[in-house]
Amino acid sequence: MTEIIDGSAVAADVRAEVAERVETLESAGVTPGLATVLMSDDPASETYVSMKQRDCEEVGIEGIHVEIDADAPAEELYETIDDLNERDDVHGILVQLPVPDHVDKRSVLRQIDPEKDVDGFHPENVGRLVAGDARFKPCTPHGVQKLLEAYDVETEGADAVVIGRSDIVGKPMANLLIQKGPVGNATTTVCHSRTEDLDGKLADADLVVAAAGIPEFIDGSMLKPGATVIDVGINRVDADTEKGYALVGDVDYDSASETAGAITPVPGGVGPMTRAMLLYNTVKAAGIRHDVEVDLD
Ligand code: NAD
Repeated sequence: MTEIIDGSAVAADVRAEVAERVETLESAGVTPGLATVLMSDDPASETYVSMKQRDCEEVGIEGIHVEIDADAPAEELYETIDDLNERDDVHGILVQLPVPDHVDKRSVLRQIDPEKDVDGFHPENVGRLVAGDARFKPCTPHGVQKLLEAYDVETEGADAVVIGRSDIVGKPMANLLIQKGPVGNATTTVCHSRTEDLDGKLADADLVVAAAGIPEFIDGSMLKPGATVIDVGINRVDADTEKGYALVGDVDYDSASETAGAITPVPGGVGPMTRAMLLYNTVKAAGIRHDVEVDLD
């Protein structure tokens, strides 16, 4: 029987853990705060940011939201980040990506105080992750690790294939899987758009993390029987629904669940974990800033 990896349930456990740590902080006189910055007219970005604010409220994190006109000069965004860097009530800063074309994304990420960089995208935090001394692990791959841990998926010595090499998912995911320690020690292959024999790599993979952003392009016949399949992809496809579209992963769920040993659904798999790990990192950041032991990895 294929096991369905329930990301919504594990994310609820993470949020409960976070809420407990918020109480620990509160009893030390600290209210953790997360600032979200939106410089975009994109409705999807607006939705993501409001969901993050709602998530904060649920666990007792103070949400601070700043909106900047999408046509405003880049300096306005840098000044906003500087202000948030200085504020004692802000422990985490998240700039919703993508930023407009006239704003240099790399400069924005560098502007955030690395101790408030709860996305883990600042070069200092990327370096620390690669060096095996992570401060904040990026939310999506960290969420995948938590799922693997929750379902006792053995990664040590496993052959893992990560599909995708983006800075936010593929690269940090591969880095975490090769590291020594729990939910690591996997022999990891990173596949990407120029990979010549994806099928050959997948055929031997005990663990597949799919993050290419291509709807349902991996089907059950490509998988090793019993493999664990983590589908990070979230793709909008036309569908006969009220909204006129449906969300699907990179994996064809029906055929893959015939072959896989365990699989995440879309939605309800990695997505809720990504949201929960942002809260987790914010509480961790507040603990670091105020020297309160919150015991989060
Ligand atoms: P991206 O577009 O930055 O990267 C996609 C990667 O896929 C690239 O590195 C590319 O080389 C690789 N790729 C493209 N075609 C390929 C092919 N045929 N074979 C193998 N690799 C191929 O995307 P991203 O930001 O990493 O996101 C990937 C997907 O994950 C998207 O669907 C995105 O919406 C989703 N996502 C989900 C979450 C979540 O919380 N579940 C979080 C982030 C991203």
